[in-house]
Amino acid sequence: RVSDETNYDTLLQRRKTSLNNNLSISYGKDPLKIVKGAMQYLYDDKGNAYLDCVNNVCHLGHCHPEVVKAGQKQMAVLNTNTRFLSDHILDYAEHLASKFPDPLKVVTFVCSGSEANDLAVRMAQTYTGGTDMIVIDHAYHGTSRVDQDLSPYKFNSKGGRGQASYIHVAEMPDLYRGKFKANDPEAGEKYAEYVKEHLERIESQGKKIAGFIGESVLGCGGQIVLPDGYFEKAFEHVRNAGGVCIVDEVQVGFGRVGSHFWGFETQRAIPDIVTMGKPIGNGHPLGAVITTPEIAEAFNNGLEYFNTFGGNPVSCYIGKTVLEVIEDEQLQENAQKVGAKLLEEFKRLGEKYSLIGDVRGMGLFLGIELVKDHQTLEPAAEEADVVIEKMKERGILLSTDGPLHNVLKFKPPMVFTMANAELFVQALDEILQEIS
Ligand code: PMP
Repeated sequence: RVSDETNYDTLLQRRKTSLNNNLSISYGKDPLKIVKGAMQYLYDDKGNAYLDCVNNVCHLGHCHPEVVKAGQKQMAVLNTNTRFLSDHILDYAEHLASKFPDPLKVVTFVCSGSEANDLAVRMAQTYTGGTDMIVIDHAYHGTSRVDQDLSPYKFNSKGGRGQASYIHVAEMPDLYRGKFKANDPEAGEKYAEYVKEHLERIESQGKKIAGFIGESVLGCGGQIVLPDGYFEKAFEHVRNAGGVCIVDEVQVGFGRVGSHFWGFETQRAIPDIVTMGKPIGNGHPLGAVITTPEIAEAFNNGLEYFNTFGGNPVSCYIGKTVLEVIEDEQLQENAQKVGAKLLEEFKRLGEKYSLIGDVRGMGLFLGIELVKDHQTLEPAAEEADVVIEKMKERGILLSTDGPLHNVLKFKPPMVFTMANAELFVQALDEILQEIS
C-alpha cells in the first residue's frame, strides 16, 4: 500500500529521517512530487504536466507501452540468473552486438552504468597487466570505488577523497574554454597530446598503463563535443603504449547523437571496450559492456565474473524491446531532425542574447553555456539557475551541468517532437528576454 501523502513538508521530513541525506533533490526549495510519466511528459500529484527535457534514461518515453508490455509479460513467466540456457539473453546479446562495428562482439550484461565501467576497468587491467588509467577532467563514470577514482567530477569535489595514484587526468578538450579553440583545425590532435604526455610520464615512473576512458560527448563536462580527431589520436597514443581504449556511452548511446547510433562513431574511432547504461533499459536497471574476442579471452582467466541480476530474462526482454522500438519508431532519425532544428534555434538565440556564450551538442544532447562576459567567459551560474526555475514555472523541466554549473543541459526522451522544440525555444526566448 502507498501512503499517498499530499503534504510536501511531511514527505521531506520522512525523506530526511529514512533516506541517506547526502542525496539531493531537484528544485530543492519547491520540490515536485511526480506520480506519473507518459512519453516526454511527467505529471505531479496536483495534475500538472511537465515537458521533460532532463530524462535521457527514459529514452523511448516514460512508460513506453512496448517496454511495459515486455516487462509484464516476462515477469509473469520467468526471472532467474544466467546459469541456464535461455533464448532471451542470446537474442538480445546478438541484437546489441549487431549495432557495433567489428571487432566489438562479446557482451557482458550488468545492472547499471557504474557496474559497466567498473567491469571495463577490470577487463583493461587483466588484458594489459597494467594498472594505471587516464581519464578526462571533470568526467563522471559511476558510484563504485573504482568509478569514483575515474571521476574527477567526484574525487575533486567537497567530500571526495582526491586523486588516486593510478589515475591520470587529461585536459578536457573544450573548444570554448580550453587552450585550443574552435578555430584551430588541429585542436583534436593537440588535446590528444595531453594523453600522450601522461603515457610518457607513466612509463618514466616505471608503471604500466591499463587504459584510457572517456565519454564520446562529455556530459558532466558540460555537453562538450569532442574536437575532430581527438579519439583517433588519443587511441593511437594509448595503443602504442600498450593500453586499451574504453568509451563510456552511458549518457549518449543508442541513437541520441542523431547522426550515428553511438557517439564514438562521430569520431571515426573504434574503442576496445564500450560501456552502456541509462537508456539501455528505458528506466529498467540494466547495463552492458561490449568488447573484442581477444580482450574477452584474456579476461576468461579462471576468475569468474558472475552478476546475479545482470542478463536475467526480464532485463534482456526489456533491453531487446528498447532496441526494436528505437528502430521501429526511427528515434535516431527523430533525434537528428529535431536536434538539428533546436541547435539552429539556440544559435539564433545566441545572436540575440549576450548571456549565451556557446551553443553545442549533437542530436538530442545539447548544451547552452551562459556567460556574463564574452571576453572573460565569466560563468553566469545564477542566471542558469533562474532559467531552470522559470522553465519549471512554465511546465518545462531542465537541468544545469558543467564544472562551472552554467550550462543548460538538454537531453529529453527521444520522442521529443518539433512542436515540443518550438514550445521550448519560445519559452527560453521569453525567459532570456525577461532576465537580460
Ligand atoms: N557514466 C556516465 C557518463 C554517467 O552519466 C553515469 C550516471 N550519471 C554513469 C556512468 C553511472 O551510471 P549509473 O548511475 O547507472 O550507475
